[in-house]
Amino acid sequence: MKAVVYEGPRKVSVKDVPDARIEEPTDLLVRITTTNICGSDLHMYEGRTSFETGRVFGHENLGEVVEVGPAVSKVKVGEYVVLPFNVACGHCKQCEKGLTNYCLTMQPVPELAGAAYGFADMGPYQGGQAELLRVPYGDFNALRLGEDAEERQTDYVMLADIFPTGYHATEMAQVKPGDQTVIFGAGPVGQMAAYSAMLKGASRVWAVDHQPDRLALAEKIGAIPVNSAEVNPSEVIKDATLGLGADNGCECVGYQAHDPQGHEDASLTLNGLIDAVRFTGHLGVVGVFLPEDPGGKEAQNELEAQGKVPIDFGMMWFKGQTMGTGQAPVKKYNRALRDLIAGDKARPSFVVSHEIDLAQAPDAYNNFDERNDGWTKVVMHP
Ligand code: NAD
Ligand code: ZN
Repeated sequence: MKAVVYEGPRKVSVKDVPDARIEEPTDLLVRITTTNICGSDLHMYEGRTSFETGRVFGHENLGEVVEVGPAVSKVKVGEYVVLPFNVACGHCKQCEKGLTNYCLTMQPVPELAGAAYGFADMGPYQGGQAELLRVPYGDFNALRLGEDAEERQTDYVMLADIFPTGYHATEMAQVKPGDQTVIFGAGPVGQMAAYSAMLKGASRVWAVDHQPDRLALAEKIGAIPVNSAEVNPSEVIKDATLGLGADNGCECVGYQAHDPQGHEDASLTLNGLIDAVRFTGHLGVVGVFLPEDPGGKEAQNELEAQGKVPIDFGMMWFKGQTMGTGQAPVKKYNRALRDLIAGDKARPSFVVSHEIDLAQAPDAYNNFDERNDGWTKVVMHP
C-alpha cells in the first residue's frame, strides 16, 4: 500500500510499504478515505522527537471498514468510522475512567501511558496517512458514522483529534455560557478551541496569534483577533475587562511557541495565559510540551533541552489559577461532537484549506510546516 513515510528531519516520501492487516481478533482493517496532517506531526517532521525513520505518519483518520477480526461484533464491514488518535484497550484502570489518553496496556513502555497511531513514544502503531490502517480493539475505538459520512468527511475527520482536542481545552478551562475566554494559538487546534468556546456560549473569545491569515479565519467564526506581533495580548484583554483579564483561557501552541521573529521560547504562551486570565481562572493547556527537546535548534538553554519550562508560577499561584494539561481523551467527546455535526450545529471543516491526494504529501508537509499563507489544515484522500 502507499503511505507517507518519515525519512528524517523535514523529509517525507510517499512509497509502498507492506499492507496493514488484521493481527489480533479484535482488530479492524480500514480503507482510509480521509486523513489529515496535524501540528503534532510537525514536531516529528522537524526531527524534534524520537520518531523513527521509516515509520508511517497519520493519527487523524477516517475511512471504510473493509475487514473485521473474528472477535469484533459491533462494527461491520462497509461502515464508515472515524478513529480517535488515541489507541486504547477499553479495559485498563485508565480506560475504565474514560482516560483513553493515558491507556496503560497499549503503550509498550511500562513507565509510560497513552498510545497513538504514527506518533513518537506512543507505541508501534503505524499511521493512517496510507491506503489501509489497522485499528486495535475496533469495537471500542471506532466511532461509527451515519449515512452522511461519505459526503461530510471533512467535518467528521476532525473528530479524530482537533475538534475533541479543542473542546477538551475548553473543558479543562471550564468554559461556561457567558464566559470571556482567551485562546493562545490560532492554528487548527486553536481554531477548534475558539469554536468550542463559542458552541458553549462564551460571550467573548479572543484568538491570539501572529499569523494574519489564521487570525482572519478566527475572526470569520466570531472570535476577536489579537495580533501578538502588533500588541501585547494581555494588555488588550485586560483593557477590555476592567483590568481583570479573561475568565479562563486555552494554550494551543505548545513548546515551539515563538516570537513573531521566530525565536523560540516555550514559556511565552504559558506566561501570556497566566497574565491574561484573571484570579481563580482555569487554564487548559493542550499545546504539546515534552520531557526533553534535545533536537531543538534553539534548545538555547540547558533547561529547555531537558523539558524544563520556566513559567511565572509565583503569579499563577498568587492569582489562584489552576492548569489542566496533556493529550486529549478523544472518546470522551467524539460521540456528542459527531451528533452536533450530524444535526447541522457544528461545521469544523471551516478550518480546511487544502484537500489533496496522498502523492502531494511532501509538498503539503513543507507548506504547512512553513506556516505558509493560507495553509491552515491539510486533508488528504489516499
Ligand atoms: P500549529 O503549529 O499549526 O499552530 C500553532 C499556532 O501557534 C500557529 O498558528 C503559530 O503561529 C501560533 N503561535 C506560535 N507562537 C505563538 C505565540 N507566542 N503566541 C501566539 N501564537 C503563537 O499547530 P496545531 O495543529 O494548531 O496544534 C497546536 C498544538 O496542539 C501543537 O503543539 C500540537 O502538537 C498540539 N496538539 C495537542 C493535542 C492534544 O491532545 N493535547 C492534540 C493535537 C494537537
Ligand atoms: Zn493531530
